Amino acid sequence: MDLGLTDSIAVVTGGSSGIGLATARLLLADGARVAICGRDAARLGAAVSQLGGPNAKTLLAERCDVLDRGQVEAFARKVAQWGGGRLDLLVNNAGQGRVSAFADTTDEQWRQELELKFFSQILPIRAFLPLLRKSERAAIVAVNSLLAMQPEPHMVCTSAARAGVQNLLKSLASEFAPHIRVNSVLLGLIDSGQWQRRFEARTNRSQSRAEWMSELAAEKKIPLGRLGDPDEPARAIVFLGSRAASYITGASLEISGGVSRSI
Ligand code: NDP
Repeated sequence: MDLGLTDSIAVVTGGSSGIGLATARLLLADGARVAICGRDAARLGAAVSQLGGPNAKTLLAERCDVLDRGQVEAFARKVAQWGGGRLDLLVNNAGQGRVSAFADTTDEQWRQELELKFFSQILPIRAFLPLLRKSERAAIVAVNSLLAMQPEPHMVCTSAARAGVQNLLKSLASEFAPHIRVNSVLLGLIDSGQWQRRFEARTNRSQSRAEWMSELAAEKKIPLGRLGDPDEPARAIVFLGSRAASYITGASLEISGGVSRSI
């Protein structure tokens, strides 16, 4: 299947690790030119090496906190210069989850989580909208979580915020149609940065990574019996952002190894 990504211009926020990095790698392999961002310069530098080293034509890597409007606007200006004034695909992926139950979550933590989940979508979409409007094949893909549909009490504010983001994306799919498609992926457990950090903080230090992951998959009752690999959501993100998905907008695709209980 031809994804029609050759010479397209793509932005992947949080492209320096995990799912974002895997998405950037697949987009480059399919012939796209890719701009990634993250907050940490060392992580960005390592990502550039993993993506084949510096290549000014195909890869732009910029420090940018997606919650800082000035930085997001500066990133959009850089992309405009580098990409010739248009953007074909915006992948809003940057972020992380918060583990806390209602009783343990302060008002300030609620505000931070709502800000992260909403403004990591709102600020990049607003800044890149003029460039997306210059494209004939414009698409936005938001990386969201199955928690939006299936809340977990131990991730109470992340779950609630993620549900709100799905609602926002549905409105945007209508408002931006027919010119810009807006879709999302709803992830279950994907073996990337945040699970590596939780593994490193494990209480049972004698447990190997493989043992810890397989216990986690069993505890979470994942029908496919394992966490996902970052390439697995990345493939879905690339598909939804490509011309191959030209009649899909306002949709969400679950990538959870079967964890979803809804029909
Ligand atoms: P990683 O920690 O591996 O990657 C997160 C990326 O986002 C990094 O590049 C990080 O770089 C960047 N990032 C985080 N905050 C910001 C910010 N404010 N501004 C710019 N960049 C930022 O995690 P994943 O690949 O797992 O996560 C990708 C997305 O998928 C996240 O939104 C996450 O919440 C979501 N998700 C992941 C699940 C999983 O099981 N892995 C499940 C459900 C959703 P830096 O820290 O240097 O800024």
